[in-house]
Amino acid sequence: MRIKISTIVFTLFLGSCAFNQKLSLFDTCQFPINSPYPGGVLSIDIKNIDFDSNTKLNTEGLASSICKYSLYQSKIFIPIPLDFKSEKVEVKQGGALLNSNKIFDKNYRESRITISNNDYVSPGEELQPRIRREYRLSQEAKNTYTPIKLKDWAMIEPAKGQISSEFGVRRFINNQPRNRHSGMDIAAPEGSEVSAPLSGEIIIASNFFYKGNVIYINHGGGLVSSYSHLSQIKIKNGDKVKKGDLIGLIGQTGRVTGPHLHWEVYLMGVAINPEIFLNGSI
Ligand SMILES: [Zn+2]
Repeated sequence: MRIKISTIVFTLFLGSCAFNQKLSLFDTCQFPINSPYPGGVLSIDIKNIDFDSNTKLNTEGLASSICKYSLYQSKIFIPIPLDFKSEKVEVKQGGALLNSNKIFDKNYRESRITISNNDYVSPGEELQPRIRREYRLSQEAKNTYTPIKLKDWAMIEPAKGQISSEFGVRRFINNQPRNRHSGMDIAAPEGSEVSAPLSGEIIIASNFFYKGNVIYINHGGGLVSSYSHLSQIKIKNGDKVKKGDLIGLIGQTGRVTGPHLHWEVYLMGVAINPEIFLNGSI
């Protein structure tokens, strides 16, 4: 009986590894920049190995995305979850150790905010079905993967403004500990333009309870981004957008303390710091 259970667990583990690793073809693989800390992306240069879509890497249960830019040149991108505890990640192929990588600590600051509208602090029972439905839609959206040939993942900033809250901060709302900040906040006056930082397809253009007016863009290859609290949405579901296209206007819809853009970036379903896709422009 003991053998049977461990066989099932092992099969499930293998299954989830295979599901969480993808290979995409790119022109260049400069972004995301190597940022081996929780909330960043470990980027590993691989030369002289011809990866293909059957390549199976063991990345200690973490999701990974192979960015292949020539026959024998690739990068393995491993998004490191914010709650990751280990100090290293080993990459194996067929049992052989490909390399071992150190994961650094990052000290994220604390942020304490006060929200007076109690609906947004402890939403009532009648709001729960809506919140659960929108949570499910967000989960599906951020795990979207489309296998397309990609140029690169260099982004431009989606809005001009001041970073009012960085990615990863430990948040307290009315002194209660909440989830880590899964995006970057850019504060700007209501009505300021929000543009697509990278080309992609709109997979959600809707109004959510916490996020207010919200857009999700699928950039392909397991990369998805979202834009919350907009005053207006300027595109619709299914639209294709190019880098720099207007998608909405900054606002203060949903759970906010003032007008700002909440910008999230997900790689293989893992929330990561949007800054690592920018060439020092923020
Ligand atoms: Zn935010």
